[in-house]
Amino acid sequence: MSTPTVSLPVPRVPGRRGRLQDIPVDGRKRVLLASPRGYCAGVDGALCLGYPPPDRPAPAERGRQATDATCPRVSKVHREAGRFARDDFEILLIGHLGHEEVEGTAGEAPEHVTIVNSPEEADTVQVRDPEKVVWLSQTTLSVDETMETVRRLRLRFPHLQDPPSDDICYATQNRQVAIKKVATDAELVIVVGSANSSNSVRLVEVALEYGAKAAYRVDYASEVRQEWLDGVASVGVTSGASVPEVLVQEVLDDLAGAGYRDVEEIRTAEEDLMFSLPKELRQDASGRRDERALGGRDRT
Ligand code: SF4
Repeated sequence: MSTPTVSLPVPRVPGRRGRLQDIPVDGRKRVLLASPRGYCAGVDGALCLGYPPPDRPAPAERGRQATDATCPRVSKVHREAGRFARDDFEILLIGHLGHEEVEGTAGEAPEHVTIVNSPEEADTVQVRDPEKVVWLSQTTLSVDETMETVRRLRLRFPHLQDPPSDDICYATQNRQVAIKKVATDAELVIVVGSANSSNSVRLVEVALEYGAKAAYRVDYASEVRQEWLDGVASVGVTSGASVPEVLVQEVLDDLAGAGYRDVEEIRTAEEDLMFSLPKELRQDASGRRDERALGGRDRT
């Protein structure tokens, strides 16, 4: 099946043109814009990546309301960690040491979790009972690298149990599939996303692995350097799951100023998933609606 491509109008962000120079290159200058990109359903719903139980929101203090807004995809991994720990499994948690999501999941069962930071660590990690081991993962990892880690773990622990379903979330997977497709045709890939965004950093790695000659992560358009564009005809662009689209549009606008006016969207999946707000916020929102319906009358 061929990937649908759509030519997009050149974006217009007032006052941005002219930062990068339009220097001729061999071939037609174009942008390959990955889709899906940007906000996932978790970020769109202003959800978080979870935290260990001791850090859970405390009961309301001084009239403030605390809400657990962990993304449902992360909560699912928390529940799995709790369940396997109760069954006395040793949990090999594939993820990046120090990342807040990994700390949150490990905190669910600290006595049972060992973090496996890389495929290389799979070759050395020690477990107390090789017959009773399960792997779980951070939701925002590279799918390919995680599978390589699992493969190496299974060579050492043939009884390694799989999680009941994928831990790497749909948004991370979809953005990686899209950038793989883009990277096969792009000489340069620009990923908009912050340095502490695991899924953004993974997009840079995946782009390089799948054929991009160069790939860089930027927080803002102003970080795109003129020399990255030297001799480059095709530029791939994507963004991490917590990046507002306006930041991508600013990159596209600077690229348009440098002659990359043809923008082709490479769409590999449609996303229409929505997560509901935490219960307290739903109640709060419906309370506000009721209040508006009462026309602001004093109901006390
Ligand atoms: Fe949830 Fe995945 Fe978005 Fe993270 S990237 S907030 S796990 S949907």
